[in-house]
Amino acid sequence: MALIPPVGLGTWKASPGEVTNAVKLAIDAGYRHFDCAYLYQNESEVGEGIQCKISEGVIKREELFIVSKGSNSRLPAYKAGAYAAELNPQALAFLSYSLWCTFHKKPLVRTACSQSLKALKLDYLDLYLMHWPMGFKPGKDSVPLDHSGMVIPCNTDFLDTWEAMEDLVNEGLVKAIGVSNFNHEQLERLLNKQNLRIRPVTNQIECHPYLSQKQLISFCQARGVSVTAYRPLGGSSEGVDLLDDPVIRRIAEEHDKTPAQILIRFQMQRNVIVIPKSVTPHRIQENIQVFDFELTEQDMNDIFSLEKNLRLVTFPTTENHKDYPFHIEY
Ligand code: NDP
Repeated sequence: MALIPPVGLGTWKASPGEVTNAVKLAIDAGYRHFDCAYLYQNESEVGEGIQCKISEGVIKREELFIVSKGSNSRLPAYKAGAYAAELNPQALAFLSYSLWCTFHKKPLVRTACSQSLKALKLDYLDLYLMHWPMGFKPGKDSVPLDHSGMVIPCNTDFLDTWEAMEDLVNEGLVKAIGVSNFNHEQLERLLNKQNLRIRPVTNQIECHPYLSQKQLISFCQARGVSVTAYRPLGGSSEGVDLLDDPVIRRIAEEHDKTPAQILIRFQMQRNVIVIPKSVTPHRIQENIQVFDFELTEQDMNDIFSLEKNLRLVTFPTTENHKDYPFHIEY
């Protein structure tokens, strides 16, 4: 059984000039899980950081993935968001990567994956995610818009896109597949798909104390699908400063930790994988120093009481899409 390392490095808005160094520092600091995407336009720089550490002998790609010998399946089983007690943060490396919406047509899935592997200079990805359940018109515009400024969809069904992703696993280009930004109905539809060959190992969703996602997380975890929290620190969203929230600050002071460490630990204690992004050396270090303390039940409840149902990543130009995920409660 392979474990998905519970803390990974996010790479969105990590500019090409900064991200190679961030990845190298992160590997030195003990990160073994990196979250990347075609959309972030920094894949070759992420790959450069990884290659550099492989050539220095700090990590070995062939050791990066552990397959259970005891399993009947040819495919590795995953344990969702390993909890700190069983975690050796040095043990695994894990590269997850997201398929962008303009590549949802079946033949394009393989093209997209091969291009990303080439840019990353890798033979396989540990996890390939469908970034959104929505397919867009293929082409060079990542978000093709019509005259009214709304996205131009393509007539794909995410179940068909999923079949093409399953083929990538069978070909050995990716070890596992998952989804991102799926609501519970979409996930259920996928799990109930006839002839589903490979189950999604994770649903990567926005998650932080202002959008704690209790219902969706219960739904996923009850079905054996792990959850990965993106935007766990509230990002750099205008007008929202989760890191400055008085409750988070108080709990941080009580544990002699920083607000970011509290927000990361909060997810870990819910068995949720978490991928904070930073390109700042001391923050990269700080964000993984979260294995030496525990939040109390009272702390957890106080953090849950901050719920505001505040979604920060809404992707408004896609609200017209038939598969827009945020029209329903969860
Ligand atoms: P985060 O919640 O991770 O916040 C990142 C921001 O917080 C950056 O401005 C960073 O600054 C700052 N920061 C990081 N650490 C600290 C710290 N210890 N103290 C203070 N500030 C800190 O937001 P993201 O939106 O980046 O989410 C994380 C990752 O999730 C993304 O990078 C991406 O990989 C993934 N993601 C996936 C999405 C999806 O649709 N599937 C959507 C959005 C994100 P600095 O870098 O300057 O240090």
